[in-house]
Amino acid sequence: MKVLVINCGSSSLKYQLINMEDEKVLAKGLVERIGIEGSILTQKVNGEKYIIEQPMKDHKVAIKLVLDALVDKEHGVISNMSEISAVGHRVVHGGEKYAESVLINEDVMKALEECVKLAPLHNPPNIIGINACKELMPNTPMVGVFDTAFHQTLPDYAFTYALPYELYTNNGVRKYGFHGTSHRFVSAEAAKMMGKDAKDLKIITCHLGNGASLCAVDGGKAVDTTMGFTPLAGLVMGTRCGDVDPSILPFLMKELNLNVDEINDLINKKSGVFGVSGVSSDFRDIENAAKEGNKRAELALNVFNYRVRTSIGSYAAALNGVDAIVFTAGLGENSGVNRENICNGLTYLGIKIDAEKNAQRGEAMEISTPDSKVKVFVIPTDEELMIARDTKNIVASGK
Ligand code: AMP
Repeated sequence: MKVLVINCGSSSLKYQLINMEDEKVLAKGLVERIGIEGSILTQKVNGEKYIIEQPMKDHKVAIKLVLDALVDKEHGVISNMSEISAVGHRVVHGGEKYAESVLINEDVMKALEECVKLAPLHNPPNIIGINACKELMPNTPMVGVFDTAFHQTLPDYAFTYALPYELYTNNGVRKYGFHGTSHRFVSAEAAKMMGKDAKDLKIITCHLGNGASLCAVDGGKAVDTTMGFTPLAGLVMGTRCGDVDPSILPFLMKELNLNVDEINDLINKKSGVFGVSGVSSDFRDIENAAKEGNKRAELALNVFNYRVRTSIGSYAAALNGVDAIVFTAGLGENSGVNRENICNGLTYLGIKIDAEKNAQRGEAMEISTPDSKVKVFVIPTDEELMIARDTKNIVASGK
């Protein structure tokens, strides 16, 4: 069975075709600049690139080209579109309705439309992508996999904001959490690496990339997460501020005469380690600047790491103990320096990092010492594989 995984953004689209027999990625690709000048599709098969540059006025044209690239005689990996048994779509927001992935039908499409107000930037391109695929592959089953779903097990005291309660019941204002597919994948992988059942483990997963979030996982279920009503909350991120005193926003709006869009732009695009360092949103640039003596770059890294460390402490409290900590995503997988900095402040939990292992890169591994009370892992995330597995299971079960 071959599953096509689609992740649609507003002007871009990522895809992978995965053979579910051996979970091998047959082809993966990226389409950029959909609907704008300079549209480009880049497909990779066994590291070899195939590039198509031609106007793509919308997602339907882009997806048609993806299918053409996959069946291309010279550069493709399948001979016929009918070899694609199912399509798995990444969907950012499933609201309170979806605690699991779901076979897409008319009711699901309606529910996704209802979630647009909760994720106005993300859900519309996801919906456009699903509709385009449905038009091009009307007989192929499609599955929606939600970033929010894994967090639907949060208890009410963890997801409720201390605002007037009607704002939850009438307006849906609550913590939803995001990156759920990644937290689910790496927490399950950590349990496998420990040779234990996830049901018997308390795990804190740290997804540290351009967007960053933690998740407290108890017995395989999420019990808290740092992102909130939107992916802006919690940790400090590349350009997003994470948690700040909410009064700063009305203060700045008055003080600097900013309107809603301008303040939104400031907290989403001009803040985070970019805003503090003034250097870049990319941690590699900031680490280099800090090494050269840039004090604001050093401060940005310290602010970021301190927030991760104190949030881990908070989740050790939420879980009443912790068996394992997992680092994943761009920074979590690649930056031993930051992992060490974060873990150095966690010795009270009995965490000891093996410096040599922590300096390695590339594959899933344990980086704690054998006598560390808490196991620490680096596990590359694979949201696409998780989406493909869900898609296969749901289609196979006929649910
Ligand atoms: P992601 O959003 O998961 O793709 O992560 C992207 C971020 O990971 C980039 O902004 C980089 O700052 C960070 N990153 C990737 N590789 C490294 C590295 N070798 N050292 C430090 N940070 C890295």
